[in-house]
Amino acid sequence: MTSEGERPIISPQRAVDLLLGGRGPVLQPGQVWLAGAGPGDRGHLTLHALCGLIQADVIVYDALVDPGVLDLARPEASLEFAGKRGGRPSIHQSDISARLVSLARDGRRVLRLKGGDPYVFGRGAEEALVLAGAGIPFRIVPGLTAGLAGLAAAGIPATMRGVNQAIVLATGHSAEGEDDPVASLDWAALARLGQPIVLYMAVRNLDVIARRLIEGGMAPDVPAAAISRAATPEQRLLVGDLATLPGLLERTPLPTPALIVIGGIVAMRDALGGLAAEAVAVLGTF
Ligand code: SAH
Repeated sequence: MTSEGERPIISPQRAVDLLLGGRGPVLQPGQVWLAGAGPGDRGHLTLHALCGLIQADVIVYDALVDPGVLDLARPEASLEFAGKRGGRPSIHQSDISARLVSLARDGRRVLRLKGGDPYVFGRGAEEALVLAGAGIPFRIVPGLTAGLAGLAAAGIPATMRGVNQAIVLATGHSAEGEDDPVASLDWAALARLGQPIVLYMAVRNLDVIARRLIEGGMAPDVPAAAISRAATPEQRLLVGDLATLPGLLERTPLPTPALIVIGGIVAMRDALGGLAAEAVAVLGTF
């Protein structure tokens, strides 16, 4: 036993070996791991994602990945940015998938690192389909998704007995090419469900989404919040209700990425705020 001050410094490799009992998965040459880094804070990284980071020859990463996470990569690993940045045109999805195939065919050990969870609104499934089609072996490394971990970071429970029995994770952005930005979802059906809705990629369309939910029968005074840069030091929260939140966001634009959460669970943060308060910068409660 060593005392607090004498604790030896160990490498990420040693930490992973210790914690996974030396049985961590091996990233093989020619293999791709589609991994999630969680939202914001690098502390959300799973041990399996860390395992991938310390083995990869190439890391193809997205904008939502905390750059501090990449410090854990091997010094000789090459880092390739494949995300959107500040509204500038992003690399086309098909080019990213093609790049993964080509790196794997070159025998590289490839880590495709995405924010949150790769299979939750992250286009990970599209990349996996291309890899499967090309016969490239791949592995999915789940991550904490923003819609759940981001809520917790803002002091909002995803479920609470007596408040909700389900939670809907939805996108506020239709597939490309559709005229109506939110046409793919039956908002009236979601309104009837009467359960909280967590919206990804919804800030731009919140006005029309709120209108459709209210037309579908959801009460305009259902609590609603926007969580910007959840689980990062820049986290900001704007709290209102379904009717007022779109206007509040227009007057006080929040930096992206941001989540919207609509439902009774939002009000729970008043009661739970105490402990979580330190982690939450509330921009305004209206
Ligand atoms: N695969 C990711 C989601 C990618 S879609 C996941 O599982 O979390 C991108 C959307 O995720 C953003 O538009 C935003 O709505 C949400 N998002 C991701 N990280 C976030 C963060 N740190 N804070 C708030 N929203 C976040």
